[in-house]
Amino acid sequence: AKESGRGQTAAYSAELDLERENLALAEQRLKAAIANDEIEVVFQPLTSSVSGAILGVEALARWMPPTGPVSPDIFIPLAERSGLIDQLSQKVFETAMRAVTDWPHIDLSLNVSPLQLCNPNFADEMKDLLSRLAFDPRRLILEVTEGVFISKPDRARRSITALHAIGARFAMDDFGTGHASIGTLRQFGFDKVKIDRSLISGGNDAILKATIQLAAALDIPVTAEGIETDAQARFAREAGCELLQGYLIGKPMSLARLRERLEPATPT
Ligand code: C2E
Ligand code: CA
Ligand code: CA
Ligand code: CA
Repeated sequence: AKESGRGQTAAYSAELDLERENLALAEQRLKAAIANDEIEVVFQPLTSSVSGAILGVEALARWMPPTGPVSPDIFIPLAERSGLIDQLSQKVFETAMRAVTDWPHIDLSLNVSPLQLCNPNFADEMKDLLSRLAFDPRRLILEVTEGVFISKPDRARRSITALHAIGARFAMDDFGTGHASIGTLRQFGFDKVKIDRSLISGGNDAILKATIQLAAALDIPVTAEGIETDAQARFAREAGCELLQGYLIGKPMSLARLRERLEPATPT
């Protein structure tokens, strides 16, 4: 891996190598990692902007081979390119649902790749998983990015309709970064919107506020992601965001750490 003289280099060397490797080899390694249960899941809390209570968690996939962690921004696209995304997600979804069974009062947000949403079997596979684990679909929030609504709107719509019918909800992820319009939110019946981190940290309060108000005008609750400072939290709350997510509230954490957050030790 290239040396930059920074402490960070080591942790990211593995993914640089991965990018240089030929695709087939990288795929093989990812496939083996999925088969050997080496894909882990961490959880980031979503809190009420008003009370600070944890109302949900977002599950985020982690791959940490011995050579060093690989970012999901690298291995998710790799899984998509190589047809491994369904297998990978199946594991992540199952792990995440099992993890939060002890806390029926919190919601579970899962990231769904656009490719999956367009898979005609997606809704049925999700329903099978939910019933196999006896997981209440009403706790589920499926986060999708907007691109898919432009490329394959009909397929996306079919999946959404089928899962809405059993009470699952959908959030538009990374809102404010692309072309997603009020029309998209309404047509597909989105239940929630997640304002992208770049808008939170971008420093343009007028745009941020207008984006939040856009969703509010449709009565769609807004989550602000990437909240790192008290000032950002205050701004988001005052602009009308329902939920906050970000390093200020909690970084993505292991199940054990999440348990400590949700079940603080009580004095005996
Ligand atoms: P995302 O869905 O937008 O997830 C939010 C990302 O922002 C996560 O990065 C999270 O760790 C990071 N983040 C949260 N709060 C803060 C903050 O306050 N500051 C900063 N700087 N970052 C924050 P992560 O875990 O590296 O995931 C990156 C992307 O990879 C995700 O973006 C999502 O698109 C994708 N991804 C992760 N896990 C999965 C998965 O299981 N399935 C699918 N399809 N995609 C996944
Ligand atoms: Ca997300
Ligand atoms: Ca996001
Ligand atoms: Ca993102």
